[in-house]
Amino acid sequence: VNAVVWFRRDFRFQDHLALSEALAYCKKNDGKLLFVFHLNRDFFGSETDMRLEYFMATVKDFAERCEELGTHLIVIQGTPEEAFENLLKDHSAVQAVFFNKDEAGYGKERDDQVIRLLEKKNVEVYPFQDAYVHGPNEIFKKDGSVYKVFSPYYRAWKQLDKPPARRLTVKDLQDYVQTVKASSDLKDVNKLAGTNDEWEIGEKAARKQLRSFVNDKLDAYPKSRDLPAEKGTSLMSRYLKTGTISPRTVFGAVAQAEGSEDSKEAYIRELAFRDFYQMIFAHFPETSDQEFLEQYRSLEWNSSKEDFKAWKDGATGYPIVDAGMRQLNAEGWMHNRLRMITASFLSKDLLIDWRMGERFFASKLVDYDPGSNIGGWQWAASVGTDAVPYFRVFNPVTQSKRFDKKGDYIRKYVPELKDVPDQYIHEPWKMNEDEQKEASCIVGNDYPLPMIDHQEQRKKAISLFKE
Ligand code: FAD
Repeated sequence: VNAVVWFRRDFRFQDHLALSEALAYCKKNDGKLLFVFHLNRDFFGSETDMRLEYFMATVKDFAERCEELGTHLIVIQGTPEEAFENLLKDHSAVQAVFFNKDEAGYGKERDDQVIRLLEKKNVEVYPFQDAYVHGPNEIFKKDGSVYKVFSPYYRAWKQLDKPPARRLTVKDLQDYVQTVKASSDLKDVNKLAGTNDEWEIGEKAARKQLRSFVNDKLDAYPKSRDLPAEKGTSLMSRYLKTGTISPRTVFGAVAQAEGSEDSKEAYIRELAFRDFYQMIFAHFPETSDQEFLEQYRSLEWNSSKEDFKAWKDGATGYPIVDAGMRQLNAEGWMHNRLRMITASFLSKDLLIDWRMGERFFASKLVDYDPGSNIGGWQWAASVGTDAVPYFRVFNPVTQSKRFDKKGDYIRKYVPELKDVPDQYIHEPWKMNEDEQKEASCIVGNDYPLPMIDHQEQRKKAISLFKE
């Protein structure tokens, strides 16, 4: 008897619901485990991007860990049906398939297709909610409807018991993995895997980063989380996205840490935000393309390709915006404060459709999560649940002065500005000619002039929304 564990965005051995349940099943039925990954091109089409490169680098790393255990990750390809038909043909002893399910978007459709096929073939199917502390179908209002505002959702979220982390021993796994031959399709995964100096990959890196955050940074989190130069956040999002760590493990490590309760609370609230946005996406899938708030569905956005390009390239002339975009382009990740600033700049200062920004982030972010990304974009553009009111428009200079006071973050990502004195780092266009020469930065030549006037654009944005 074989029990398949279908790994999808959960590339780890520890605290993995489907894996621990499959292991229990094998122990009971004298079975062996098969580890499977479906390389599904519908998820990424023909273009490669940083998000995909990071993801595939994670799969590659996971395949190596499977080998250390004495098995191989079986890679299947084709449509979901073709892939699983072939798997069952090649491995006739498969009696059950275990996986951690998707409850939203294309992932859900794909899961439903595969479940139908497996049931037709009389294979047992065991899906689990594993990707969120509380899944999209766990928390409802008393009348059974969905929460649309975060604060009351969070109160309900906090009251629920939190599932404990599940531990496995390597020995257990070694005893129960089926020996199989290496999968030739793994080479396609390896071809798609990318590298980047800023990337740490895999389960071990995730656990190490969590430990170091909890020990060294958690206490200061409420303050330092907003200061991009301080690197005060946990960097867990990329690991949560690829599932190299489980949200239960992250929650547990923070909840049980010693130290300030306020800091723990501030962090846990963010984990709950992740669940909230996923819940909204699962129940309102149309929000991937449509404003949550009906009154803003017919706004007339600016469709200038040049403006969009300047934003994408980090060439707007606003140093803090450019630094954020260049971090994204270089590393496939951007600090949360910068995501808010750059998203606000695109939608409120350039008045460009938030969907274009959402899609651009989607192609770059190694932690891309449709729920959080759509939620974050709609928040910044004032068109979503719990959005900032439309008349509150982020001022890129004020934000810069407040959150990158000395300009350390700006100088790291916008090297043309590295010799600009602190006093001008947020507004280099205010330097006079001599000062520009002194700083080796002629504005309009070495670094762009601001592409728009913030005060003017702010007024335009407000009147657009008002209408
Ligand atoms: P930490 O501050 O250490 O937070 C801990 C964890 O809480 C994160 O790993 C993440 O899982 C969760 N979290 C934190 N802030 C948020 C938030 N605002 N919304 C939802 N979850 C949160 N996050 C993604 O994971 N994927 C995305 O595609 C994504 N797109 C975003 C787009 C925009 C426009 C905005 C404003 C935010 C977006 N976020 C997204 C949320 C947030 O920016 C990242 O989760 C955070 O920067 C990740 O870094 P970290 O792990 O160091 O965060």
